[in-house]
Amino acid sequence: MLRWQIEMAVICNKVLRIPDVVFQKMSDTILNTFEVLIEIIMPQAHSLKKFNTFGVEASCDQFFRFHHERDIQDWLAGLPIPKEKFFVLGGGSNLLLLNHIPLTFMQADIQGIRYEDKGESVIVHAGAGVNWHELVMDTLDKGYSGLENLSLIPGNVGAAPIQNIGAYGVELEQRFVSLRAVDLYSGACKTFLHDDCQFGYRDSIFKRELRGQYVITEVQLKLDKKPELVLTYGPLKVLSKQKQVLTAKDVSNEVIRVRQSKLPDPEKLGNAGSFFKNPVVNQQQYNNLKIRYPDLVAYPVGNDAFKLAAGWLIDKAGLKGYRHGDAGVHQQQALVLVNHGNATGEDILNLAAYVRDTVKTEFDVELEPEVWIIGEQQVFS
Ligand SMILES: Cc1cc2nc3c(=O)[nH]c(=O)nc-3n(C[C@H](O)[C@H](O)[C@H](O)COP(=O)(O)OP(=O)(O)OC[C@H]3O[C@@H](n4cnc5c(N)ncnc54)[C@H](O)[C@@H]3O)c2cc1C
Repeated sequence: MLRWQIEMAVICNKVLRIPDVVFQKMSDTILNTFEVLIEIIMPQAHSLKKFNTFGVEASCDQFFRFHHERDIQDWLAGLPIPKEKFFVLGGGSNLLLLNHIPLTFMQADIQGIRYEDKGESVIVHAGAGVNWHELVMDTLDKGYSGLENLSLIPGNVGAAPIQNIGAYGVELEQRFVSLRAVDLYSGACKTFLHDDCQFGYRDSIFKRELRGQYVITEVQLKLDKKPELVLTYGPLKVLSKQKQVLTAKDVSNEVIRVRQSKLPDPEKLGNAGSFFKNPVVNQQQYNNLKIRYPDLVAYPVGNDAFKLAAGWLIDKAGLKGYRHGDAGVHQQQALVLVNHGNATGEDILNLAAYVRDTVKTEFDVELEPEVWIIGEQQVFS
């Protein structure tokens, strides 16, 4: 709570003699209303440092947080801000923020997890503000499987469909049923089914045609009562040899162990996970590269296409552990750019451009950022 919010609670209790229990029930709505009013009456730059896992200093024009879908609709109805001036924030784990961003940031901090029995399966309904990993843990604790390979991915539920999060052989779309979202232009609520989302590799319609138009408020996923474990990914393959009866919890524990040993914890070293997507090349390009680099790491994806491991390319280009000031390429994971302390968003952006250009020169392959770069001009050139 901010200081004024605490003071508000005291006033309600001491002056207006509203008992604590009643205040707590009212407080969500009261605080929300006051937050909105204060933002409108006294607009001020808001620091976003604690809202991005790179931990860079940045600010925005206004910042609103909502706890209910209805509040978002009411707020939009009475608001004179042009809708293209909005940016919807989740947990800030897939963003690179640059200096002052002249936008209104809003966060759908909608909590709640609910299960719907469907016989052999269950549908979990999760609020956009639920922490993703906490959702995964909750489903496993209840004995439902399906999300175990996606353990420990940072961020919130509302952002998960945006880039169709994926890890260790599983993508969100395999479990996705539908989502609810509020249209920032009309204020109307809409349900998107699986096909409406046009999921792809780290991609969905919300990154393309519908970019910036919707705030997701709830996601529904299908889970199994009887686990069908996905153990195709390297480190998970050995699990089945170690234990006769494997549970979804075992898989989750292994995923957590491997992730913790490989990826830097943003709490200790600022980062946003993989900075670049794995680039896809055609057969001809793949053949040429394979002749020059017999140890090239690549996977076939459909006809005539290969996905290259971007981390391998960066490593091979000699950039693993490279550092310019406080912006660096991670020592163990070349795909992860890190903030060693006081790097600015610009420092990390310059490093990313250097990495991209070096890879282009060495391999003639174009790296595209997976991370959203948000600044006044939102460019990466
Ligand atoms: C250490 C680390 C490891 C990671 N590992 C993985 C991994 O294995 N696999 C993977 O896929 N990703 C990974 N990521 C990236 C990141 O965790 C995911 O992209 C995550 O889904 C981002 O969630 P967020 O809530 O932090 O979203 P943010 O970073 O806040 O936002 C990301 C995008 O989603 C939009 N958005 C957020 N919430 C909403 C909403 N409610 N409605 C509409 N739009 C919204 C934002 O506008 C933005 O465009 C990793 C990140 C880190 C730091």
